[in-house]
Amino acid sequence: MTLNEYLKQAREGGYAIGHFNFATEDVLKAIVSAAKESRAPCVMVGTSEGEAEFVGLKEAVALVRAIAEDFQYPVFLNADHFRSFEKCRAAIDAGYDSVIVDPKKEYAENLSITTQVVEYARSANISIEGELGYLKGSSEVQQKIEISIDDYSKPEEVADFVAQTGVDRMAVVFGNIHGIVTDQEEKLDVEHFAKIVAAAPAPAYVLHGASGLSDQDIKAAIKAGIVNVHFNTELRVAYHDALEKTMHDNPTETTPYKYLGPAAEEVKKLVLQKLALFK
Ligand SMILES: [Zn+2]
Repeated sequence: MTLNEYLKQAREGGYAIGHFNFATEDVLKAIVSAAKESRAPCVMVGTSEGEAEFVGLKEAVALVRAIAEDFQYPVFLNADHFRSFEKCRAAIDAGYDSVIVDPKKEYAENLSITTQVVEYARSANISIEGELGYLKGSSEVQQKIEISIDDYSKPEEVADFVAQTGVDRMAVVFGNIHGIVTDQEEKLDVEHFAKIVAAAPAPAYVLHGASGLSDQDIKAAIKAGIVNVHFNTELRVAYHDALEKTMHDNPTETTPYKYLGPAAEEVKKLVLQKLALFK
């Protein structure tokens, strides 16, 4: 089954597919192992441009294929927020299953670059995600981020964008931000999201920046039509903190798998916890 088919099934069934980022093999394996254990139908794993540069595009494809085969489990590799047509093309040529085109430009240029990627990907059975609205933040822990309704994706713009580009999925903004903020409550405007879905019912809708959101908000968003949820920052924090603790507690331990193993184990626990929310 293709990723688009899995997403269609998720929509019909009222659940969501998880998307998690990785930059190392131990984290990738932890994600896939958790997804299989939770009996999710499939899992999406992603590399940002930075993560892809660190791992290597071909290497990421080879790792995902090897692990999917090992686990006998469907894993889809996504180029997460790739900025230019050239970057998206490189990921598609390397064998990625999916691309998020995110030029971070104004409407007309976003539309033009996204259309170019959709046309390029059409023959290759790649799932393409577009993005509209201003998704603030980064995959870090920050103190506070101002977000207003002006940053939200506009329903009529989403409808026009989908009709013109032919994307399979849409990343939309309705209160979500990338990363975790410490000094403010992160809150989704699910009513606004419902207006977007009403204006443009066709694409599979994707929630980015789910780290830091309450479980209730995530469940409400899935109920309103979200079929794919991205978690990144919470995973990074779990991995980092566990690694720091192990190194602090065992200062003479130099065997990589002995200090990386417990960190990956924490990632696995967290992915299991998140996937339980999507059912
Ligand atoms: Zn994202």
